[in-house]
Amino acid sequence: MNSLEYYDSINDERRLASFHRDMERAERQQLSIQNALSEHPVVYYVKNLPIESSKYPAIEYLTLAKQLGTSVLDAYGRVQQSIPDQEGNYRLRGLFGQEIVFSKQDHDYIEWQMPAHDLMRPKVRHCGFIRSKSGNGYVYTACPEDADHHIKAKRLHCWSLRCPLCMNDTAIRDGMKVEKHFRYHETIWRKSGQEVPPLGHWVISPPQEWAKCMVQDKEHYDALYQLITSALQEFGASGGITIFHPWRQFEQLEWKFSPHFHSLLFGFIDTTGFRKAFPGWVIKKIHAEEGIQSIRHTIAYISTHQGLGIHERSADDVDWDLDFLDHMIPGLKSKDAHFSEKDYEDLSRNRGRMVGDVTDIDWLEWTMDRLRGDIRCRYWGSLSKGKLKTLDTKRQYTLRACKHCGAILRTFDGHDDHLGEPVRYIQDVEVKVPAPQFRMVKREYERLKPQMKEEGMDVIGFARNVPFAASTVELGLPGNENDIVMDGPFDRPDEYYLRRQRKAFGPSDTPISDKDSI
Ligand SMILES: [Zn+2]
Ligand SMILES: [Zn+2]
Ligand SMILES: [Zn+2]
Ligand SMILES: [Zn+2]
Repeated sequence: MNSLEYYDSINDERRLASFHRDMERAERQQLSIQNALSEHPVVYYVKNLPIESSKYPAIEYLTLAKQLGTSVLDAYGRVQQSIPDQEGNYRLRGLFGQEIVFSKQDHDYIEWQMPAHDLMRPKVRHCGFIRSKSGNGYVYTACPEDADHHIKAKRLHCWSLRCPLCMNDTAIRDGMKVEKHFRYHETIWRKSGQEVPPLGHWVISPPQEWAKCMVQDKEHYDALYQLITSALQEFGASGGITIFHPWRQFEQLEWKFSPHFHSLLFGFIDTTGFRKAFPGWVIKKIHAEEGIQSIRHTIAYISTHQGLGIHERSADDVDWDLDFLDHMIPGLKSKDAHFSEKDYEDLSRNRGRMVGDVTDIDWLEWTMDRLRGDIRCRYWGSLSKGKLKTLDTKRQYTLRACKHCGAILRTFDGHDDHLGEPVRYIQDVEVKVPAPQFRMVKREYERLKPQMKEEGMDVIGFARNVPFAASTVELGLPGNENDIVMDGPFDRPDEYYLRRQRKAFGPSDTPISDKDSI
């Protein structure tokens, strides 16, 4: 193990432990977790240390330079001066007079970025605290009995790790998302009497110079990612998620380009077998003795310095007509797309895409979206998407209460507002069932529904009593026992609250995408 790899894993262990302590304290005291994270050294380093370039452009010239026994610049120059044959191959003479056949390649290059480095973003997306309508102070939520119990200014988020203001909350949200995904599976395994393999946090480093080349373009990156997830499964993992780090922190000086992967996974890994099959690779378990203390904290920590990759697509590869039709008729190409609430709202005013009106489309943005793709993380193995299906959802109307005294929290519109408004939210509790048992469970559910209705039992109660099902409330996720679930809807139509929630918790563009989570 070279010194940087060794140093980094020690560093990860030490930092994760302190990160976990800070977050737990914040969660316990209901301080703004945002503050706890922004004080954390790793975020400071992400924002402030210089970052070594991750670019190895035109990899093929590196190889050629070696073959020619010359510099990359010289190799490049010689290709430029040569004339290719009919197949586009350049025939050059090597160091020992041997013939070298060289061809220029088209790369779907990836540009890797560190979180928090899109400095324009907060301005463009209006991120940050929300001013009150009166202009006197900010919108904030507090306990009406005692502000010392709970007080937090409300923020607008763009939910991007690229955003210096939103990266912390986005990393925390990603952590929650991943924990929820893991817990659904774990809960169902346990309820149905399956063995739950141990959960571990692993770091996998392929040979570094090779890995630096592999992460340059989409094709090779995908192949490397695939190789790692299948190797982990071959040597004992049942399933997990894998996140890419292009850089390792080198002392307190710099982020060095040093590609490696973090994986949270269920299962025992046969490291001896792994190392034998992949000589030169480094595989290590973080906190090997005590295991993972918290999925959400671990993922949030990993997210703060994960690689945000964009790859460019060639305009020739985009099916512009199909994409346009898919925009007009969602679901044509992107399977799960539907017309949105806004579309129906527009329709009632006789405008928008449902009536063939395209005047409100930002064509520049639409075009750019098609020419760039984000590199995403994947759940794999037993945690793959599609292993669980949604049986039904139950809509819950909830009032948020103070953790200390149980009073209903209120949102105040600045300092002039002494009355405030109770904090209400709508949650659709999902019940998941493993795909193989789905039809059987669904049939039972439909059969029992009338009887359950008479007895006042809903799908959440059904799930509790069925081994092959679990609802969000069974997952043991952090929540507030004091929150009050109401019997019926709030005073205004659901859409009013849902729209507000969509605005506050809109889609994120992180590598752990909303689409991939369950
Ligand atoms: Zn933002
Ligand atoms: Zn790392
Ligand atoms: Zn914790
Ligand atoms: Zn209180």
